[in-house]
Amino acid sequence: MKVAAKFKADTSKRWLTQDYRPLELEQQVRQFWEKNKVREKLEQMKLAENKGLLGFVEGPPTLNGVPHVGHARGRVMKDVRYRWKSMQGFYVPFWAGWDCQGLPVELEVERQLNVRNKRDLLEKVGEERFVAECKKTVMQYHKEWFDADEKLGVFMNHAKAYWTYLDEYIEREWQYLKRAWEQGLLGEGYYIVAYCPHCQTSLSNAEVGLGYEEVEDPSLYFKLKVKDAEDEYFLVWTTMPFTLVTDLMLAVHPDADYAKVRVGRETWTMVKQRVEPLMQELKVKDWKVVDVVLGKTLEGVKYEYPFLDMVLKQRELDQHPAVHTVVTEDFVDVTTATGVVHLAPGNGEDDFKVAQRRGVPVYAPFDDEVKFTEDAGGFAGLFARDADPVVVDLLRKKSLLVSEKAVTHEYPLCWRSHHKLVWLARREYFLWTDKLNSRVVEAAEKVHYFFESPKNRFLSFLREGKPWCVSRERVWGAPLPVWVCQNCGNKELVASKRELLERADASPPPDFELHKPWVDRLVLKCRGCGGSMKREPFVLDTWHNSGASPYARFTDKEFKTFVPVDFLTEGIDQTRGWANTLLLEYVILTGGAEPPYKAFLFQGLAQDAKGRKMSKSLGNMLEANTVLQNHSADVFRFYTLWKCSPVDAINFDLQELSRRPYQVLGTLYHLHRFLLQNAQYDHFDPKQHTLKWARKNKVLKPADRWLLSKLQQAVGAYTAKLETCEFNFAAEELETFVVDTVSREYVPMVRRDLWSDDSETLNRRLAVYATLCQTLKTVVLLFNPFTPFLCEFLYQNVYRVLNNTLPESVNLENWPAVDDALRNLELEQDFATLQRAVALTFSARQAAQLKRRWPLQKVVLVAPKNHQKSLRSLEDLFLELANVKSVRYFDKLRVPHTDSEVRRWKATSDGDLRVLLDTRRDSSLLGEGLMRDLARRVQALRKELGFMPTEVLEVVYLAGLDEEMFGLLEPFLGEMAGLVRAGEVRLVRDRSEVTAQWREFSFDGKRVSAAITQ
Ligand SMILES: [Zn+2]
Ligand SMILES: [Zn+2]
Repeated sequence: MKVAAKFKADTSKRWLTQDYRPLELEQQVRQFWEKNKVREKLEQMKLAENKGLLGFVEGPPTLNGVPHVGHARGRVMKDVRYRWKSMQGFYVPFWAGWDCQGLPVELEVERQLNVRNKRDLLEKVGEERFVAECKKTVMQYHKEWFDADEKLGVFMNHAKAYWTYLDEYIEREWQYLKRAWEQGLLGEGYYIVAYCPHCQTSLSNAEVGLGYEEVEDPSLYFKLKVKDAEDEYFLVWTTMPFTLVTDLMLAVHPDADYAKVRVGRETWTMVKQRVEPLMQELKVKDWKVVDVVLGKTLEGVKYEYPFLDMVLKQRELDQHPAVHTVVTEDFVDVTTATGVVHLAPGNGEDDFKVAQRRGVPVYAPFDDEVKFTEDAGGFAGLFARDADPVVVDLLRKKSLLVSEKAVTHEYPLCWRSHHKLVWLARREYFLWTDKLNSRVVEAAEKVHYFFESPKNRFLSFLREGKPWCVSRERVWGAPLPVWVCQNCGNKELVASKRELLERADASPPPDFELHKPWVDRLVLKCRGCGGSMKREPFVLDTWHNSGASPYARFTDKEFKTFVPVDFLTEGIDQTRGWANTLLLEYVILTGGAEPPYKAFLFQGLAQDAKGRKMSKSLGNMLEANTVLQNHSADVFRFYTLWKCSPVDAINFDLQELSRRPYQVLGTLYHLHRFLLQNAQYDHFDPKQHTLKWARKNKVLKPADRWLLSKLQQAVGAYTAKLETCEFNFAAEELETFVVDTVSREYVPMVRRDLWSDDSETLNRRLAVYATLCQTLKTVVLLFNPFTPFLCEFLYQNVYRVLNNTLPESVNLENWPAVDDALRNLELEQDFATLQRAVALTFSARQAAQLKRRWPLQKVVLVAPKNHQKSLRSLEDLFLELANVKSVRYFDKLRVPHTDSEVRRWKATSDGDLRVLLDTRRDSSLLGEGLMRDLARRVQALRKELGFMPTEVLEVVYLAGLDEEMFGLLEPFLGEMAGLVRAGEVRLVRDRSEVTAQWREFSFDGKRVSAAITQ
């Protein structure tokens, strides 16, 4: 073929660098978005288009730390949904939100201020300065989160962010409490709560579930003596000896058999089914069951409380008829320990309920630091858990201790400070959510969860339906808006800042805000008696703050429009957190059995490469900003979505980023480079050279129609996987389509068509560009939610270069729809057969050690008629891809007869397809093969020297070939010139014949050299 030297490529149009360099390109795109306000334009455009809206409310990150890769993964999923739904035409209020108050922030500030505990905090720092420090910390961490969003390319509207600590948010949050108050669902109660001695506050049930860990505790068996009976005892087991101080009763199961066991001179009572294993465990050899009674007959038996001498208050309580007696209760577990449990109503929920039912007074002699008060007599001043060894010692001295050892078990620690929690009876404010449990569960059942396991986990947690302790004895939080009259005890909930200020006895200071200490300085006048009302000193559980967001972050009108929101996604731990509080609060607010969200995707946790949980203590935490400093945001995004299902825990391995995910995106990049270089060379104009134009000019080939058909399949399957949140399978669809279908399969089918620059075949080339342009642009739109930087870059530097009438940004494009007219299942079937046949010739070549570049004379295909029909219709393509000169078809295999026939034909088969490859090569085939080998070397050299594929070289010189090669190669030099895009290829005997920059390479064991002149 003739190459005209005038076609020199325009080097000023080197838009796409030779390599895919994501970090550089992403920086350019960030600047492009910023400068052209693309995010803002997208939001305004969707609002103006008014094609439908989907509500969204941000699950606010707590601003007490920096985002790690797990957070980044979650934000990517939100962004994927946002970009995708926007391209589908929906308006989504993708507005940020920040959780600013509560224990997590307080503890972070305590750490920064080097404060040991709450008392220290109040004495040394004071509330006013503490609040200021909390705000400062929140703003510091906000910067980290904002930066991470910028780096990741999360298109969230930060200007519209809500901040849970602002007065206007708090006031709207209070509306939930007001509704609860009116319905009798909010109130004060004396109840058992989990309490953190370090943080000095109670925690909610949901918070308790966040922090179970393996800890060591004492495990002891001890005896309690039956009153007025010689040597008779109950055998009891506990892991919390300090609760013996607050012990008030023993409980047995009414319907279980209890045995009286003679051990030495003594008789021990325990559940019958546990006698043998227990005696073994306690190493008691001589024992005998002397009597068996039913549990209910033990009701009312009085026992001797062991520390009556030390605890005056216990002596007083002992007068109560139920105190220090045996009660019968169904909850007693008779399969473990002794089947006799001691009850400390001040320290256990079941115990507390038993006491309430029997009118036993609450006895919880603890101060705020969980130290015993004067009411605990000789134990006063001791921290509860420090009393454990003291109690054990006392039991030993009184000969009541039977055995003592240590046990390792799962025990709840404070989710923030990691201290062992203690259960205490305290005066708190509760949302009596147990009363609405059926409505809450009904609402939760209406939500779509995408995957079964998190759904089941969430629903089973909700069914527990315990009251929600919402009061916290802390500082930095939304205040509980309940005022109490100091005179008549009248209580009022005032949920409006204006009303508060109006009713206050003094005008507020100018810096007044709805926080401690300022809000506590408001004294209201009692409407009943005119007395002074003071605020209950509590702040609210921080989970109540974020749970209020659907109402608190919007205006009334927005709330009506956007809630229930369309889709939320957060970590799996939010089953006990935000997903739960959102639901509870919404049911309280609306009174109905409706959820505030239609769909909730729970994400799996982020772990390190070895599958260990990421934690500060292990030092394996990957901070998002650090990772994104050195790694491409697109590759990171693609990796997190592609690696595993969103519900699974992801094992983050940064090494993996540069492997397959980088390759996939690199392939997409290089396909565009290939398209752009060729298309510009031929002055392809997508507005003119459309598929319609190609069809009219009859220049579309089966390969193009096949690619367009496969594209429709990919669009359909990918979109369906997005709908079901199977992001990993969606990514796989695109991966396969780009790497296999387009790059590995289609491009080789059209490479030869593109190679010529003959004006007579120009239309064919333009048809290929039209096909590739349509296909790749669609792929870019599909990829955009996953890898928005690369897609914007390609959109600007390929599609907008080829067609300046396109929208300003890829984000302003519409989501691709499946075009059924382009789908052709029959053609796809034909191509599947073709690819099988080509693959068979390749494996036959491999077996015969014949390179794919070497042309061969003949192939025989043995196949059923329908396959033959497919293959005949694509014969040109088959010959080209298989690199053979001719093909023959047979229904049945003719078995080779002679030895030379067996040697000549290499056979391979796959199911009903069989291929026989003629391996014989004459001098012409050898020469052509040699030429192709050398052409490949020259191509590599061109690339190395930085020539564009479209650039035409003047002369290519080759030196170092032997006489035989000379002879074989001679007839193919013209063809070679075409292949390497040179005016001419010349063979020289010696390098000295030509003055040029020679490059030497080894070829078939010889030193061969090549030089290029331009
Ligand atoms: Zn704590
Ligand atoms: Zn009053």
